Amino acid sequence: MKVNENFGRMKPSYLFSEIAKRTAEFRERNPQADIIRLGIGDVTRPLCPAVVEAGKKATEEMGVAETFRGYAPDGGYPFIREAVSRYYGRRGVNIAPDEIFVSDGAKCDVGNILDIFASGITALVPDPVYPVYVDTNIMAGNEIVYIGGNAGNGFLPVPDETTPAADVIYICSPNNPTGAVYDAEQLKKWVDYARNCGGVILFDAAYEGFVQGDLPHSIFEIEGARECAIEFGSLSKTAGFTGTRCAYTVVPKELKSGDVSLNALWARRSATKFNGVSYIVQRMAEAALSDEGLKQIAENLAYYEENARIISAALDELGIEYTGGRNSPYIWLKCPNGMGSWEFFDLLLSKANVVGTPGAGFGVNGEGYFRLTAFGDRERTAEAAERIKKTLREEI
Ligand code: PLP
Repeated sequence: MKVNENFGRMKPSYLFSEIAKRTAEFRERNPQADIIRLGIGDVTRPLCPAVVEAGKKATEEMGVAETFRGYAPDGGYPFIREAVSRYYGRRGVNIAPDEIFVSDGAKCDVGNILDIFASGITALVPDPVYPVYVDTNIMAGNEIVYIGGNAGNGFLPVPDETTPAADVIYICSPNNPTGAVYDAEQLKKWVDYARNCGGVILFDAAYEGFVQGDLPHSIFEIEGARECAIEFGSLSKTAGFTGTRCAYTVVPKELKSGDVSLNALWARRSATKFNGVSYIVQRMAEAALSDEGLKQIAENLAYYEENARIISAALDELGIEYTGGRNSPYIWLKCPNGMGSWEFFDLLLSKANVVGTPGAGFGVNGEGYFRLTAFGDRERTAEAAERIKKTLREEI
């Protein structure tokens, strides 16, 4: 029996276990310490009432013979594909329902999409990065080329004439972990690059719900993207579905390799390996994207945005550089005094009793940076911000 030897090429994923270990050791030494976690990437606000109501109603339907449903249609029920299509339409983006594939998570789809590409292809991946892009390409035996995000480019790398050609190109905006958001001009450069080199942009829009103002929510707001991009959307962060699970992947009909349609390949792949999201969850997702649902969701997003503002304001007062904090639930700060990511982690834990995420866990360029998240409770976030200010005033 032969296993996939590529697994041996992956770095151990020790970021969150190391955080847990250091936090547990600290707690053992300091049982009275009141630790605040600003490291989590999971939401805390409950599902909105429209979603809960839809879930109850759909559950009732499943208990009655006349309205009971078995397997869902491939790609999702028409009602949810149409709801996602209308959601895009609100921003003037035309996506047909049969270009939308409903799934149980952007994470799965971002990984699974590699099924429709040859193995051994080249992936262009930003650094720092959401680790899933890296690990899934290693598992698939692909070559990874990195493009560096750094303070100089505001953690928003764009391709230039030196950027090598790639088959798949990962973009995450608003970005996890840096919170940085591309504008339309920068995304146009990516679209032009992809079309020139014949690569496909894999656009991760998991945090688009946080975008305000003129910044793009979707790669399909950019001219030419329908010929060169696939987009992953998710209700996880937008509507609090991290535990409920519903996402969607958009594969435009124009996207082709020669005369092979990637939409057709993804439809075939999904029908072969996936039996769909439950009817109840699809109804809940439909409700989240209704006018009423979107209004209610906006309140939750505003809650997180205010948390992000509170953390950002503390860093502004301290004169600490950061990206994110606006249009994003993440705040990505430069560790003061040239401290390393883990050194800063230990300082915040021991002096402020606040837990964040060391940037080094997201790639080489993350060393010397640190991620805080706005997904926590308001009072605890405000308390953490005060403690961070006090600690850093004493330490830097
Ligand atoms: N993409 C990014 C950049 C994320 O940070 C996350 C979750 O943290 C996901 C995708 C996963 O989304 P889902 O819950 O839909 O699987």
